[in-house]
Amino acid sequence: MMNVTETPPSASSLPAGRGESVMSLVAPPHFHHGLLVSMIAGVVPLGGIGPTLPFESRPLTPRGTMSDVLSLLINELHDGRVRIVDLTQPLGPETPVIGLPPQFASSPGVTMKVISEFDDGGPTWYWNELRFGEHTGTHFDAPGHWITGRDLPDNTTDTIGPDRFIGPACVIDVTARVAANEDYLLSPTELAGWESEHGKIAVGSWVLLHTGWSTRAGAEAFLNVREDGPHSPGFHPDTVKVLAHERDVLGVGVETVGTDAGQAGGFDPPFPTHTTMHGAGKLGLASLCNLDQLPAIGAIVIAAPLKLVRGSGSPLRVLALVS
Ligand code: MN
Repeated sequence: MMNVTETPPSASSLPAGRGESVMSLVAPPHFHHGLLVSMIAGVVPLGGIGPTLPFESRPLTPRGTMSDVLSLLINELHDGRVRIVDLTQPLGPETPVIGLPPQFASSPGVTMKVISEFDDGGPTWYWNELRFGEHTGTHFDAPGHWITGRDLPDNTTDTIGPDRFIGPACVIDVTARVAANEDYLLSPTELAGWESEHGKIAVGSWVLLHTGWSTRAGAEAFLNVREDGPHSPGFHPDTVKVLAHERDVLGVGVETVGTDAGQAGGFDPPFPTHTTMHGAGKLGLASLCNLDQLPAIGAIVIAAPLKLVRGSGSPLRVLALVS
């Protein structure tokens, strides 16, 4: 049993001098990605700021524990002025998996096998064993996934800096175009049109292609494979060059099974989104949903993959903060 005298003191119970040094460690005066991630991950409890009171009458978070911007964020989350939108599809045996031509190795779908469920194997606990490919369901593509990114530093899920898992989102709505053409590709001209309306895409942004594809029910409609291969929308090869090299984005996100269009195996270069983005050290997000709930600009996306050692990607929970 832990001796109570060994319990670490909370920041508020520290002597003033020591409290100040804690504040300087944990609460820099500027926006800090790592802290925000910790907060969203629950290291800083969302419900830990006191009873539900009107915003004006609730005491502010004690000084010395949290910067003003983080205190404000907690209050805004608590009061619903900042909402969390879940951009993640359910992950399970029904999750569609990308198909490859037969000469290539295929990725398995999801299997979940019960280890124990309140039975002889574990009378009071329930847990499962999982099997799936790294690129299954709503998932993250690391630069090391592609041959163009394989020699880059910090190119796998365990070595990419966590500051790169969060960024502002630019959401490009092409649902009307995709409804008329399932092989629709976002052109550089249309990207420029979006920027003339919403402003230039900022360095370090997630660029999310809102196609409406996530509303397709069932694997057959979602993968949309015909005799000549899969048909689904994506980016024109020249557009990803602009995003990677001229806008220096964090990465791109799509609603489809992969970041390239269905027919992209026949493009020049083949799979240009993977080839160009990962060659430039950029990230990818596939099988997103609920992009219709995001504004064109103004949301923050948090997309942190599992810290798989030498992982080329991983399923993940993708969250957006929207005010
Ligand atoms: Mn992938």
